[in-house]
Amino acid sequence: MVEMAERIKKLPPYLFAEIDRLKEEVAKKGVDIIDLGVGDPDIPTPKEIIDKAKEALYDAKNHQYPSYVGMLEFREAVAKWYKKRFNVELDPKSEVVSLIGSKEGIAHLPLAFINPGDYALIPDPGYPVYPVSVMFAGGESYKMPLKKENNFLPDLDAIPEDILKKAKLMFIGYPNNPTSAIAEADFYKKVVELAKKYDFIVASDNAYSEICYDGYKPISFLEVDGAKDVGIEFHSLSKTFNMTGWRIGFAVGNRDVINGLGKIKTNIDSGIFQAVQVAGIYALNNSETLNEPIRKIFQERKDKMAQALRKGGFEFDEPKATFYFWVKVPKGYTASEFTKKLLEEKGIVVTPGNGFGDAGEGYFRISITNPRIEEAVERIQSAI
Ligand SMILES: *Cc1c(COP(=O)(O)O)cnc(C)c1O
Repeated sequence: MVEMAERIKKLPPYLFAEIDRLKEEVAKKGVDIIDLGVGDPDIPTPKEIIDKAKEALYDAKNHQYPSYVGMLEFREAVAKWYKKRFNVELDPKSEVVSLIGSKEGIAHLPLAFINPGDYALIPDPGYPVYPVSVMFAGGESYKMPLKKENNFLPDLDAIPEDILKKAKLMFIGYPNNPTSAIAEADFYKKVVELAKKYDFIVASDNAYSEICYDGYKPISFLEVDGAKDVGIEFHSLSKTFNMTGWRIGFAVGNRDVINGLGKIKTNIDSGIFQAVQVAGIYALNNSETLNEPIRKIFQERKDKMAQALRKGGFEFDEPKATFYFWVKVPKGYTASEFTKKLLEEKGIVVTPGNGFGDAGEGYFRISITNPRIEEAVERIQSAI
């Protein structure tokens, strides 16, 4: 018989597979489903980016293996964009690596720095790739709970000293998926201090920096003094330009960490299709013009969703960034019970908070990557 490796057996039960199964069952009954579950924009990639890629498709030099670390022109465009957007200086040759989506880089990073038994500090709730990538590398995760009373930032003082001593890596990600919380410089400064004191790498996941509202502009972890001594930041074109399917992202920052990640990649993949990189260069060089109409659409949806949820008496903090509303489950239900009820009785798909970690119990995540906002909230309200 085929037997799976221990690392596969150790994977947590995939909650989203159960939601998909239930969704199919409900759809078969002819129910009109509104899916507010996925964090995947429903709007197409801007036409100018597609045109650029189309042109590049016909250029034969793009048909060969790309460079592992990315075209120099792409890495230069990344460095230029970081300077303009965050005032962070980066050397395109040693402090930037291209990624086949930032998920790829996040999943590979622990392979370069985690030895069996090493600890990684992981936010809970959080992007499920963080703990899985640590486990695949043979490491242990220490879960840092994100609680409302701490504005969904990890309480750094609450991490036990013996864990800090064993820690090799810390993942943080703001603007945050799933809680939509944001982080400011004072938090990042404390992270840098702690990383220097206990000698661990910080990996900041900044995928949502351009999906922001009401004039708020998220900052980069690398803006803080000393950040580049201890860490890197993951970024992606997926959310900024509605390009989730294209698979293009990058990591920037500490050259030794970037180099380690590059070593893993050289041995596993062969870089991003160059035609996609050419489109990515165009997107980064024209980011403000291309991102603004996208941001506006989500701003309108965010306002509508906030208004509808408020009217419905739901408990939540209005997001300053991301596609997500992190909403308290009504009294008397667990997150799973409530989200199951919404799907079975109302055809509404949302994500139970505990799907992102145990500390997400008591919440559900609504994504505004669907235009049917008011209708959806009316149905949610009618369920309680
Ligand atoms: C969407 C998302 C990413 C980006 O993934 P890509 O692989 O670049 O498409 C990274 N981190 C988080 C938390 C996300 O939600």
